Amino acid sequence: MRKKIIAGNWKMNMTFDEGQKLTSEIVNMYKDESISDVEVVLNVPFPHIMPVKKLIGKTPRIFVGAQNCSDQDSGAYTGEVSAKILASFDTDFVILGHSERRQYFGEDNELLAKKVKKALEHGLTPIFCCGESLEIREAGTHLPNVKFQLKQSLFDLSAEEFSKIVIAYEPIWAIGTGKTASAEEAQEMHDSLRKSIASKYGSEVANSTPILYGGSMNAGNAKELLSKPDVDGGLIGGASLKSRDFLEIIKSY
Ligand code: PEP
Repeated sequence: MRKKIIAGNWKMNMTFDEGQKLTSEIVNMYKDESISDVEVVLNVPFPHIMPVKKLIGKTPRIFVGAQNCSDQDSGAYTGEVSAKILASFDTDFVILGHSERRQYFGEDNELLAKKVKKALEHGLTPIFCCGESLEIREAGTHLPNVKFQLKQSLFDLSAEEFSKIVIAYEPIWAIGTGKTASAEEAQEMHDSLRKSIASKYGSEVANSTPILYGGSMNAGNAKELLSKPDVDGGLIGGASLKSRDFLEIIKSY
């Protein structure tokens, strides 16, 4: 059975107080609801990692993640944070290849391959984001386009390394726009990605790789998206900033 994961992406939001309030609310609601089979990841801005981790404490199945890491371990790279440093702060996950990093910071598939390696080397679980632009979707080449992103950034990994990866399919046109892929469109892409993982690493690895959907997922549309057989959870931006909305998504799984 594959893991079910609901991951929040706070992006560059939340002051210290806001982050503490949101985390406490999520942890308390999560405990009350006694949700047993969904893993929750809070991908927070770097300074929140320690205090959020502290609030989570020993609550089972809630983890903390970062939203980026360097492809280097240490050195004169002002402003960067390495996987090695993140691991030393007990960070569990790291989002890599989010379309905002690709678009605003010029991250390409080759650089992401190095970052993924570093994350794995230091014991972090990468949530590797991939997805197509509206132009590519309209041209009808979205399936090969997204498969190519996986191939370039992930397919040099060994099967053992690959089996630690979480994939997040995030159509760029659906991120923060209020437009979601339909459940059928998401399923089509997830199925295609799983098949390409199977042809590279075999069906056992493919069948155990969680593939999350991201792009304007909210309490209203989550149930339908999450009901698809190859959709193993969600990566949630806007709706992860309000505890009730986020919990509604978790509960709808
Ligand atoms: C994201 O940032 O990964 C995302 C999916 O954002 P939103 O849910 O706001 O579209």
